[in-house]
Amino acid sequence: MSNRTFTMIKPDATAKGFTGGILEMMLKAGFSIKAMKWTKLSTEQAGAFYAIHKERPFYRELVEFMSSGPIVAAILEKENAVADFRTLIGATNPANAEEGTIRKKYAASVGENAVHGSDSDENAIIESNFFFSELERY
Ligand code: GDP
Repeated sequence: MSNRTFTMIKPDATAKGFTGGILEMMLKAGFSIKAMKWTKLSTEQAGAFYAIHKERPFYRELVEFMSSGPIVAAILEKENAVADFRTLIGATNPANAEEGTIRKKYAASVGENAVHGSDSDENAIIESNFFFSELERY
């Protein structure tokens, strides 16, 4: 079990001014920020990040959405980080997300769902390395 996970605040949420509210929910839930940047992915970068979903029918839509505007990428730390963060963000489809979750409060649809959270310790490391050098984290 690792104590770190990786997150992005997605373009729908940055565009709607939800960045501050989402960060506040993460901090209140006990996560601390070990690295963070505001950036925008090219379609090539978004395609590479989500390469694992290449065969899924929504891949093209996902890549276009994720490169449509700025995102916030961050590495978060907490005991049991990956699992606890998945609980905090809620179900992929906000219609199924529990009360008190980030997606329940801020997500619009199954595609435009406000936040990303790594689904395993292994992917948390791969995704963190995609965005951050050793110098950019502590
Ligand atoms: P997550 O781990 O909860 O983010 O969900 P998945 O790994 O299954 O999917 C990755 C991302 O692809 C989701 O967060 C959504 O942004 C997007 N996505 C998943 N399912 C759909 C879908 O049916 N339609 C669209 N447009 N996007 C989807």
